[in-house]
Amino acid sequence: MLNLVLFGPPGAGKGTQSAKLIEKYGLIHLSTGDLLRAEISAGTTLGLEAKKLMDQGILVPDAVVIGMIENKLNENKSSSGFIFDGFPRTVAQAEALDALLASHSLSITQMIALEVAEEELTQRLLERGKSSGRPDDQNESLIRKRVQEYMEKTAPVAGYYDNQGKFTGINGVGEIEFIFGQILSIIEK
Ligand code: AMP
Repeated sequence: MLNLVLFGPPGAGKGTQSAKLIEKYGLIHLSTGDLLRAEISAGTTLGLEAKKLMDQGILVPDAVVIGMIENKLNENKSSSGFIFDGFPRTVAQAEALDALLASHSLSITQMIALEVAEEELTQRLLERGKSSGRPDDQNESLIRKRVQEYMEKTAPVAGYYDNQGKFTGINGVGEIEFIFGQILSIIEK
């Protein structure tokens, strides 16, 4: 089984590269951002509570996203692997993910981080906001808040996987196909 964490700040290209990896390896895509947006669209209590935080660019509580991931792991027990996109975003989430996977006799294969400078991220997200319809992509101060949350709470997750010998960082600026090729070479190793 191939269980990948695709890591990086908002706008690094995780969604784009996830889609290509899913096509190639038939993995189940687990994006907590997408799962939260589905809850918002469905008008659930969880969605409404999460929206208040997402509209401020703040992370939702660990227990909320861990619960969603647990449900998805239980629903997809026979899959050939998972790609985690936008999760884990805190060290506590990473620890919970390890425990959840271990309870299914699984583990993370590798974390691949897409590295992109902050100015480039802001430009990419503002551009994406023109067509994505995501309110959090349309406001520069909100984008900066999301990047700040990433730097403070999420960046340390890289060290967590590095300590396990499972971290590889690559340059996330360049042609999509070139970056995808680099990801493939890491996986094939
Ligand atoms: P994303 O689509 O990954 O950019 O996530 C959009 C927003 O959803 C983030 O700004 C957070 O408010 C929330 N979110 C998504 N994934 C997580 C997570 N793993 N932990 C906490 N909050 C999350």
